[in-house]
Amino acid sequence: MLQQTQVSRVLLGYSLFLSRFPNFSSLASATPGEVIRAWRGMGYNMRALRLRKLAGIVVRNYRGKVPNEINELLTLPGIGPYTAHAIACFAFGRNVPVVDTNVRRVLGRVFPSVIKSRDQWTLAGSILPRKKAYEWNQALMELGALVCISKKPHCAECPWHKQCPSAYKTVYKPGQKPKNEPHRRGIPNRIYRGKIIEILRNANEPVSIPLLMQTFGLRQTRSDRNWLNSILDGLRRDGLLCRQRIRNIFFYALPG
Ligand code: SF4
Repeated sequence: MLQQTQVSRVLLGYSLFLSRFPNFSSLASATPGEVIRAWRGMGYNMRALRLRKLAGIVVRNYRGKVPNEINELLTLPGIGPYTAHAIACFAFGRNVPVVDTNVRRVLGRVFPSVIKSRDQWTLAGSILPRKKAYEWNQALMELGALVCISKKPHCAECPWHKQCPSAYKTVYKPGQKPKNEPHRRGIPNRIYRGKIIEILRNANEPVSIPLLMQTFGLRQTRSDRNWLNSILDGLRRDGLLCRQRIRNIFFYALPG
């Protein structure tokens, strides 16, 4: 839920979502539409569908309990190396490293020569204390988030400032410019995708293309219509909406 989404937004939806789906079997047996509705306000609706799919696998293959082996976690939908390690460490207390953006930055500064030749996960594992990975990983993440920040790290406050070869030397280099994502009139397509799902969440009946065009202030031009169709087709391919045809007009609704 927190992936690229502010904590304040997730906090509102998190408890509502859990009260609606208190266990994996209730989530697995819900329709995609029910899960998308319950995901309201938390952005990136694809994650809701992945979570539902994950719940189905956990119920079918793991008797309703999330596995604690990293290799098994990695086979679940939407779970990458970071999430797999975070679940293993923070949910199951396993002694494994957790490398997020902040930890990656700290390691790159403290071990600049090592990081070039070794995988960050291997390095993070090699400095992991034998016990207390739960505390260690959180401390490292917090160090990167609050002290070893990207622009001007607060080296004087850092417990590693005597050993760190980058202490007081970090010069901020602006990162790569963000990708020029597809957009319409300066608004990224992903925002329109989210808005369409929000409209369908609030609608009591299927919504037609002319109504969507009107809502977005689009003109009845071929270019605007083609663009909207491509967004709707993408959402349909992702399983986020379904389409029905009534008297030569297409109507859209949440699935299931
Ligand atoms: S000394 Fe400075 S650069 Fe090195 S880890 Fe600490 S905050 Fe980061």
